[in-house]
Amino acid sequence: MAMSSSTSSRLHLPSSWHATTTKATCRWRRQRFLPVAAAAAPLRLRAVHATDAAAGQPIDAGSGAADGPDDQHPRLKIAIVGFGNFGQFLARTFARQGHTLLAHSRTDHSAAAAALGATFFADPHDLCESQPDVVLLATSILSAKAVLATLPVHRFRRNTLFVDVLSVKEFPKNLLLASLPDDFDIICTHPMFGPESAGGGWGGLKFVYDEVRVGDCPARRARADAFLDIFAREGCTMVNMSCARHDELAAATQFLTHTVGRMLALLGLEPTPIDTMGYQALLRLVANTCSDSFDLYNGLFMYNQNSTELLNRLESAMDEIKRRLFDELHQVLRKQLFEGSPPLNTDSPGSSSPPLNKNSPGSSSPPLNTDRPDSSTPPLKGDSPDSSSATESSDHDQDGNNEKSENN
Ligand code: NAP
Repeated sequence: MAMSSSTSSRLHLPSSWHATTTKATCRWRRQRFLPVAAAAAPLRLRAVHATDAAAGQPIDAGSGAADGPDDQHPRLKIAIVGFGNFGQFLARTFARQGHTLLAHSRTDHSAAAAALGATFFADPHDLCESQPDVVLLATSILSAKAVLATLPVHRFRRNTLFVDVLSVKEFPKNLLLASLPDDFDIICTHPMFGPESAGGGWGGLKFVYDEVRVGDCPARRARADAFLDIFAREGCTMVNMSCARHDELAAATQFLTHTVGRMLALLGLEPTPIDTMGYQALLRLVANTCSDSFDLYNGLFMYNQNSTELLNRLESAMDEIKRRLFDELHQVLRKQLFEGSPPLNTDSPGSSSPPLNKNSPGSSSPPLNTDRPDSSTPPLKGDSPDSSSATESSDHDQDGNNEKSENN
């Protein structure tokens, strides 16, 4: 049995633990997402006090901080399965709030766990035997099925709460329903933020959750509420949404964002001395998306059935943009070839998508630039007296437009 140092003695639980805990958790009072002040209702706290005392697992991190452990929020024993980038990110806040943390992962993260006051278990059997209130699945999407299969779930307490934080939702919902005993509770969640985007705290960031199965027993309800309250009390915007709806929306938001970020990364964008705000936003997008593992991105594609369509639409949109540009170019060239006139523009104001071939030979439409008052036969390049100022003015307009769109 491999286990982080100095913890084995903590994990020898008394034989009475199971009964004690069950009885104790039933004393929790119900608590929904109240503002922190309102949530100060008298709760029976620390339902696993006796157990934790026996296991000798005090959580010190953040103790005494204003937003740290207090007497108004039930504390949970949370086992994080998949203690990588995101698992550790969540653990920092869980620890600060005073929850008891257990961790299990493929890689030996015992040092990182110890730094957070968490107990690391290399062996999933040992993790199960420590009987957490909540098991949080934070492994990669691609490995979730295999990792879950390694957990001897029958060794958990009978009605353990399972939560996943995978960035797709239908897949883990079906997986957990198929793999867990019927009397396990299941909440599928997706914090819509990560280490890159939530450096300044979780306030106002969205937390999507779907209570797939929470038993009727008040204690189970209270445990589910206590878990969700971890995010609510950090100021997250709690979004109760079905897994199917999440995946529908996430393909159009998250997968798109990651895809564009990864495409831009391939261009090797660098900051320049004349960066616009728009360009800086692109650089941030690259940084935000490419700091996540490729496994994560791949999982967004593989395990969201809406992603293929989004990718196809993105490709079509790029083709359409190119087609418009090349059609315009083609028209200009043809005008020069066949008519000797320089139709350098363009459409009437407000026409965002002109018919693509309205000036093609045989078209009854006027040449593209005949709606300019002075454009009967303008020279191609500025040999007219006013052409340079016209060019300047046009450049100026472009700048002005850029400014506007950046501010938007
Ligand atoms: P990730 O690459 O998606 O997952 C890394 C985790 O998966 C690590 O704990 C790693 O274990 C484990 N893992 C990967 N392959 C494995 C395998 N073959 N067998 C066993 N374990 C394996 O990166 P992440 O950012 O940490 O994300 C974790 C989960 O959180 C994902 O499901 C992701 O969708 C979700 N999520 C992430 C974010 C974010 O901003 N990063 C936000 C919301 C949700 P070891 O470290 O032990 O090797």
